[in-house]
Amino acid sequence: AKPSSLQRVTVLGSTGSVGASTLDVIARHPERYVIHALTAHTSKEALLAQCLVHRPAVAVLDSDADAAWLRRELKQAGQQVDVNAGPKALCDVARDASVDCVMAAIVGAAGLLPALAAAEAGKRVLLANKEALVMSGALFMEAVSRSGATLLPIDSEHNAIYQCLPVKHRGGLAQHGITQLMLTASGGPFRTWRQADIDSATPEQACAHPNWSMGRKISVDSATLMNKGLELIEACWLFDATPEQIQVVVHPQSVIHSMVAYHDGSVIAQLGNPDMRTPIAYGLAWPERINAGVETLDLFQVARLDFEAPDEARFPCLGLARAAMQQGGLAPAVLNAANEIAVEAFLQHRLGFSAIGQLVEEILSRPSEGRVDSVESVLAADQWARHQAIELVTKWSA
Ligand code: NAD
Ligand code: MG
Repeated sequence: AKPSSLQRVTVLGSTGSVGASTLDVIARHPERYVIHALTAHTSKEALLAQCLVHRPAVAVLDSDADAAWLRRELKQAGQQVDVNAGPKALCDVARDASVDCVMAAIVGAAGLLPALAAAEAGKRVLLANKEALVMSGALFMEAVSRSGATLLPIDSEHNAIYQCLPVKHRGGLAQHGITQLMLTASGGPFRTWRQADIDSATPEQACAHPNWSMGRKISVDSATLMNKGLELIEACWLFDATPEQIQVVVHPQSVIHSMVAYHDGSVIAQLGNPDMRTPIAYGLAWPERINAGVETLDLFQVARLDFEAPDEARFPCLGLARAAMQQGGLAPAVLNAANEIAVEAFLQHRLGFSAIGQLVEEILSRPSEGRVDSVESVLAADQWARHQAIELVTKWSA
């Protein structure tokens, strides 16, 4: 039998930015963690390299052809790994009975079903995949409370808020003496740019984030401030907050990762170097603390902390996300899907930067039917919005 302190971990999206940081932290603590499964979409070479180092029991890729390739390579290297393919295989490694902890680090809507499978199976769920919560917040939180899963936010802002909240915080913020959550935002690479320059921004400029190195989709979201909008929705679900209880604060240094304000006037903040290994290590070890490989913050080098209000005229995506959350129902899923299509089209040079927000606004304004009564209804809204958005991209880029 395995010692109770040894945690068996599945890393969904292990070849991504958060996935690689997760493996970096895990590798520092072989006495605490063992890998059950690693998964990637199409990056088969990167997944092979990770398998050779981290020796998972299972590896998952999207296509059968890629899985066959990986199986051959691992066999030649003399490694016993069960290699599977497709979305169902992702859910299987997320809910496997031998697994204690699941890092949900797939990007976008593709991560919803495996993250939900982990929540339904009562795992310790480390949630980086914010889109899952944006799409299906009510269902996701219900699954967590029904199964008794432990949900730990990995998004750095939400991880910060979690660290600043009282240990017991369920049942509404006011009841625990909390007046406001202060969600910090770097402002992204275009914070100081004029509207005309923002309009003609390129994918390369959008992906050059001043403080964080991240995947391309979230980098574009940071540049539009849609990332902060998605995070506002994420915070509402995680912490039982209303959009009005969340204040977005632009803080260009990204040293304060977020704050919680209390009735007595106290504001509690979590600070640190901008490195995802800190929230990842917190999630892995909670309620303990482990070394994440991150240097202690040097306050003299930071020297100053600046704050400003977000400019929602130049960055309309933040307001669109807030409005979608206020509308409720399937609107956040529609917002997310339209944004995913628009960001992809921008990265392919088919849409201009400012068209991302325009496209999301247009799709959100179209009547969409239905209620969030099942994951199927969420996925149907997602598909509907994707089709509408793809048509609009074709029309606008013609
Ligand atoms: P990334 O693009 O670097 O990596 C994404 C991972 O998901 C890769 O392993 C990829 O193979 C896999 N993947 C992509 N599409 C898939 C699909 N259709 N099916 C199965 N697997 C698929 O992304 P990232 O920056 O690591 O972000 C991952 C998630 O974490 C996102 O939801 C993002 O918003 C969130 N997040 C990231 C950061 C960060 O610093 N990068 C910070 C906070 C939150
Ligand atoms: Mg974040």
